[in-house]
Formats: sequence, C-alpha cells, structure tokens
Amino acid sequence: MSTELHQLGVAELAAQLQGKHVSSVEAAQHFLARARTHQNLGAFLAVDEEATLAQARAQDALIAKGAGGRLAGVPIAHKDVFVTRDFTTTAASRMLAGYRSPFDATIVRQLADAGCVTLGKLNCDEFAMGGASENSGVAPVGFDAPQPVRNPWNSARVPGGSSGGSSSAVAARLAPAATGSDTGGSIRQPAGFCGVTGIKPTYGRASRYGMIAYASSLDQAGALGRSAEDCALILSALCGPDVMHDATSVDRPAEDYTQALGAPLGGLRIGIPEEFFGDGLASDVRAAIDAALAEYEKLGARRVKISLPRTRLSVPVYYILSPAEASSNLSRFDGVRYGHRAAKYTDLLDMYQKSRAEGFGEEVKRRIMIGTYVLSEGYYDAYYLQAQKIRRLIADDFQQAFTQCDVIAGPVAPTVAPAIGAQTDPVTNYLADVYTLPASLAGLPGLSHPVGSGAHGMPVGLQLIANHFQEGRLLNAAHAFQQATDFHLRTPDGY
Ligand code: GLN
Repeated sequence: MSTELHQLGVAELAAQLQGKHVSSVEAAQHFLARARTHQNLGAFLAVDEEATLAQARAQDALIAKGAGGRLAGVPIAHKDVFVTRDFTTTAASRMLAGYRSPFDATIVRQLADAGCVTLGKLNCDEFAMGGASENSGVAPVGFDAPQPVRNPWNSARVPGGSSGGSSSAVAARLAPAATGSDTGGSIRQPAGFCGVTGIKPTYGRASRYGMIAYASSLDQAGALGRSAEDCALILSALCGPDVMHDATSVDRPAEDYTQALGAPLGGLRIGIPEEFFGDGLASDVRAAIDAALAEYEKLGARRVKISLPRTRLSVPVYYILSPAEASSNLSRFDGVRYGHRAAKYTDLLDMYQKSRAEGFGEEVKRRIMIGTYVLSEGYYDAYYLQAQKIRRLIADDFQQAFTQCDVIAGPVAPTVAPAIGAQTDPVTNYLADVYTLPASLAGLPGLSHPVGSGAHGMPVGLQLIANHFQEGRLLNAAHAFQQATDFHLRTPDGY
C-alpha cells in the first residue's frame, strides 16, 4: 500500500485515513521520503520531520477516537509566504532567512483544524514577486545556495511562479495538495505550467492574516491540487471570514465547495474574450485551449463571444499598483524589528541601507524603487491615481461581460513553461502576465486546470474566471471536464 500513497489525491487519501487503511504517520512518512528523493526539484525550503510526525500522531489519535476533521491526517505543504509556528518562514527572501513566527497564518490554522498535517514549506519567488520561481533568495532543502525551482515535466524548465514550489511539488506527487498565493496569477500560472489544478478565490474570501504581504489589495491565498475536487476540499477549509484579524476579510460564512460538484453543465455560457486570443498567444497553447473548449461544448456548455477591452492595460496598471503597495509593505523590513541586519554599519541610516541592500534580491529592489517612484509627490496623480481609475474600468468590463456569460475562459499564459534562465528581461516577464492580471485587479476568482500539452510536451492550462463568490461554479465546471477527460491524471515520467 504505502508505495502507492502518493498516487492518491486528497479525497481518496482522506477516505483511506478515515477508514484506517493507512495512518497519518504512514502517509506523512511516505511523502517526506518522496520529498527527500526528489529534492533536486528545489521545491521545499523547510522540512522538519519531527514536527510533521508530531502533527500526524495527533491526527491519528483524533481519528482513533472518531473525532477527526474532514481532512484528518491529510498531508499538505504550504507556500513559504504563510507564517507557521512549527517551520521557518522566509518568503524565499534572505531578509527573513531563519525567521520563525510566533503564530500560524489563519489559513494554516484552518487547514490544521480540518485535520491537515504540514509536510513543510515550499519555495517561491522572493516575496511572491515573479512568474518563474527563479527569484528565490533562499537555499532549498538539500542545497547550500538559492536555486530556481524545477518543473518535474522537464527539469530544465521553470515550474511557473510565484507559487512554483507548490506546483512542482503537487505535479511530482511530493504532496497531495499545496497552498499558494495569487496576487497577479501566482496560483493559476504555475498550475498551468505544471499540469495541476489551482484556484484563487474571490479577493477577501480567504484570510490574509499571517500571509506575508506583497500587494495587499490583490493578495489572495488559494489551493493547488491534482483535481478540482481536491481543490474544492482544500478551499472549503481555507476560505471563510476572519474579520478580527484581516480588515479586508469578507464577513460571509464559509462554504462547502464540494456541494457544487456534479451539477450538469448544460446551458453554461462560456465567455471567450477576443483579447485573450490575439497575436501574443502561441499556436500550441491556442490549439490545446480550442480543444478544451470543444470538450466543454460536448458537455453541454456553449461559447459566447465577449470583449474585455482593457485587457492590455492590466499590465501597466498592475505594475504600478503592485510595486506601490509592495514598497509600502516592505518598508517594515528595516533590520530593527525582524529580518536580516547588516553586520557592519556606521549609524542608523547606514544600518537600514546596508540591511536592505543585503537582504533583498534584485527583483524586489526593482519593485521597491518603481513603487516609491510612482508614489512620490508630483507623480502620484500621474501614475498611482490614474492606475486606480483604470483598475475600476477593468472591473467594470468584467461586470459587463458577466451579463452575457456565466464563466470566462482563456489561456492562463501565452506559452508553455519556458526554459530556466531563458527569460531575463523584466518587462518581457511582466507582459506574460496579461491573461491573469485582469481577474486579479477585479478581485475575481480564477481557476486553471490542465487541458493537454503544447510545445516540448509541456502542460497547457485553461483559465476559468467567474464573478465574485462563484468559486463553486468554477470548481464544478472543471470537475465536469475532469470527469470526462484524463489530462489531470497525467503524471510526469519518473514521478
Ligand atoms: N507574476 C506576477 C508578479 O510578478 C504575479 C505574482 C503573484 O501573483 N504573486 O507580480
């Protein structure tokens, strides 16, 4: 039995655990061993076998008493932007190397309350800034220097980002599911690049308490798993109000998203935004998306042409607003209260400057500088305020579209996962976010699920976007697709 545990998804594993066919300790040991075997992927930034096994033993005791939660004993790994008491939390930044939080992020606690056992912390782009997981500033487990995370479908290629450790670990079956964070696409795009399913809920649906901030008006926690059903299970535990801790938490009771699964798709109107299918989209990705849309039609959905006219503006808007918020959020890392402090300095100002110069990586510094610039006196109206206004118009475009359709479908990224080291120009990288940024700016839920492969045999993801609080609709659509197809069951060779 135990050699096959990693082939089980969250739903199946939870059933095995409840039925006492396998113990939580056995499951945890099995996945920890796999993480060790495949540490060349660079997916984990922290593991602590004793801490994991202690959590697993506690879950086994609850299961024995019949008091286990719905996910009792199910192992999960967390993106290293969620603070944890039992493991270090670094946000993949040298600035936070070795940092240990005195408390668990709300979503970590909620998943633990449902019974999840933490396998460890997952690599990502530093402070979640990036789209390839090449910007990590911390050495992953098994290495003594920072490494880019590798895609298990082809280890010379990126797993996407910023939640690349999450997508790599789930695709390689090092964890049945993982958490991620999505500010401008960081769950959907890596899920697409690694052939797994990922969902970012509506802004405000999941607590941001204990999630290291990048751009607070956009940051959302979410889930990556093999299937929509697994994501529904994780998301049901992860979402819910946390109004005492998070000022933007929506005071709306948690939902059980598995209840939405199984509804037929007959009559579902899928909006196809023409702006998502322009020149920038690679033909191999387009072919896989077209085939997926034809499959949705077979399931009873119909395509509706729509327009999201300000799609292109989402790139400049996002790359003004997110650095602006980041420059403010990251000002707390001053070397005084927490984080890295330079060993040698002359006075207080020199200490700030040296600590920040040493602690932050290049991309983070670039964004702090852009953000500080656009917020500075004389430029605020021209950049930040203008971007806020266009953000509102982008959100209005979606509301207009949702009068014509129930969900919106399109690519998640213009190409399949590029080779590690191939894309070094920051602006080129920013432009590749064009399909994920609009939903983020509008605060909408978005999902990506695998729909086949493109160039070099790399996975292609289809993005689905719904109106606010319609996560269930997204999960149901993807679930229906997955009941009829097997793309989500494909595993990279050697895993
Ligand atoms: N690639 C985008 C960025 O670099 C999105 C990152 C994210 O969603 N955390 O900002």
